[in-house]
Formats: sequence, structure tokens, C-alpha cells
Amino acid sequence: MAFGTFFLPGPTEVRADVLQSLTQPMLPHRGAQFEALFADVQAGLKPIFRTQRPVYVSSSSATGLMEAAIRCARPGPVLCLVNGAFSERFANIAQSCGRDATVVGGDWNRPVPLDVVEHALRTRAYGALTVVHSETSTGVLTDIHALTQLAHRYDCAVLVDSVTGLAGVPVETDAWELDFVLTGSQKALALPPGLAFGVASERFIANAKQASARGLYFDLVEFEQYIHKNQTPNTPAVSLLYATARQGAHIRRETIERRWERHQAMAEHTHSWVHELRQRVGASFGVYAPDDARSHTVTAVTVPEGVNPDAIVKAVASRGYVIGGGYGKLKASTFRIGHMGDHTMEGLENVLEACAESIEELLGSK
Ligand SMILES: *Cc1c(COP(=O)(O)O)cnc(C)c1O
Repeated sequence: MAFGTFFLPGPTEVRADVLQSLTQPMLPHRGAQFEALFADVQAGLKPIFRTQRPVYVSSSSATGLMEAAIRCARPGPVLCLVNGAFSERFANIAQSCGRDATVVGGDWNRPVPLDVVEHALRTRAYGALTVVHSETSTGVLTDIHALTQLAHRYDCAVLVDSVTGLAGVPVETDAWELDFVLTGSQKALALPPGLAFGVASERFIANAKQASARGLYFDLVEFEQYIHKNQTPNTPAVSLLYATARQGAHIRRETIERRWERHQAMAEHTHSWVHELRQRVGASFGVYAPDDARSHTVTAVTVPEGVNPDAIVKAVASRGYVIGGGYGKLKASTFRIGHMGDHTMEGLENVLEACAESIEELLGSK
């Protein structure tokens, strides 16, 4: 099938040659051949993270590195910024790992305001805070640069889930002094699911040594030790590393700056499409996220009362395109379009046309 039909907000569509690269033969994961492959993976990932630090590769989904972030954060209470389903998950992980976790925020339709965060930081000495950069459940984008500047004034480390941010929305790991930032393979990086990638600052790793319950599989101190040999602590998903090296070369060719621009253009096009749809059909379709805090990788579209978003998703599927339903408590009131990864404006126009036809058909038959 031609590329450009699969617009789920993760997993995302994977290029044919990247899929093809998965079929290369196995190799021993201790040895020069593997180390060369891993060095190649690093060369691809570092410019995407905008970092000079090594990029950890975890053979797990992204949630694994969310747990690693919590387990390895320095001792002390954790402040959890919650504004959607994935930031809620981050808070749940903190609690289930036995951390003294405080939740702030709660509104899904905006980032947690900085004054709310500052009030919390002033009240108590938090060792770390958790935040989701691009909330995939809502399409809301948080300014993690401003947040990190604020947190660092209170000596609080910032743990960033940028699973649908990184490789689609600007992330400056080094320049913004992010303490830990993670993503998964199957979102804006447009790889198959199964790997997670993360970068820790030197300070984060130095402090991690004091965290007593780091466990074994997600101990980032171990990742740091092995990565200097271009190795991973345990057997990695070698096939997915072939794909990562291949996709890294594609992204290097595009350049990360142009990738960010392409995502911004796709997001803006989707937002104006929603606006035009509302004018044309006269019903209250809208972009869920506020004007000034919209992710460039995913849009949650609110539907008018009486319209079932699942029916839209099904009607779009019958036209040969995959989009996402609403997530969590927005399941009955939104559908989501994942305009991330390697999609083009032309492909996006096609899926939006299929959405418009589906919606007009459903409204007409009511
Ligand atoms: C998809 C997603 C996750 C979870 O990723 P898994 O790979 O399924 O573990 C976490 N956070 C955000 C923001 C996501 O979009």
C-alpha cells in the first residue's frame, strides 16, 4: 500500500525501506559489529535530541523509560504536573514506585500554569518534577523550556516525557538543560514500536547514584556505564536498531529543523481545516487545545453533541485511512489525528478530505 494512510497518534506509519531493514541477520550484541551499529544509531539520535550526551536505548516501550526516570531520580518528593492521560500515568508510576508524589494541575485543556508550579515549589523542596511535553490525549503542548528555568531556580530536576514531542516539536536537550528527556520509537520518530530513547544530564546520573531503589532493568546508571562502550546492559532489540540507524539517516538528510517546520505546517493546516469545517457544516467542531498551547504532532478535534467520534473513525476507515479515537475521558467527545512522523502535506490533505466526507455523510444521515 502507498505511504500516507495511517494517521494514528502512535504507532505511526513506517517507511517501506525502514521496515525492510528489520530483516537483516542477527549479530552478537557484544562485539565490534554491534558497536559500529550502535555508534551509527547514536550519530542519528544525538542531533534529534540536540545533545552531546549519549542517547540511552531501552528495549521497552516509552513507559519503561518513564519508570526509569522515576526510579533513578534523586531521593526526595516528586511533583507531578497532570494535564492529561499520559501525565496522569507519570504520576501513577511515581506513586507505584513508592515515591512521595504530589499532583498539581488537573485541567486537561491547558498546560499546568507556571504560577501553580511555582507555588508548589515554594511550599516544599521537591527533588524532581514530571511533565508531559506533548499530551497525546489532548494535543496540548507545554513550554518545557520555561518550566525548566523555573524548576531549576528551586533546584528541582525536570523529567520530561516528550514521546509525541521529540522529532516533531523543537526539543533542545542541552540548551534547555533538561535533566531527563525520553521518547518512544513509534511516535514522531516513525519507527516500529519496541524501543525507547532517553538522555540524562551528567548531574542527573551523578544524583541517581543516591537513589536506592533503582531496580535492575531500568537502572540508568548501568545504561550510562555501557553506553561508553557502545553497548546496552542487556540484549537489545537488534532488529529495531537496524531500523533506527536507517531512519536516523533519513532524518539527518531531511535535517531536524526542516522536520520541525514540516510538523508545524501540518499542524497549522489541520487547525485551519477544523475552522473551515465548522464554517461549512455549521456545527461546533473545534480544536480541543487552546490557541497558544497546541502540539504540532497531534490534534484532538472536539465533536458536537450527538455526534459519535467512533462513527467518524469508522467512516474514515471505510475510505482507507486510519485516525485515532478520543483518549481517556475525552473518548466520547473527540477524535484525534496524528500528523507526525514522515507524513507529508499531501498525505494530510488526503486524510482530511476523507474526514470531511465522513463527517458530512454522518451529519446528513442524522
Ligand atoms: C504513547 C505515549 C506514551 C506511552 O508510550 P508506550 O510506548 O506505549 O509505553 C507515553 N507518553 C506519551 C505522551 C505518549 O504519547
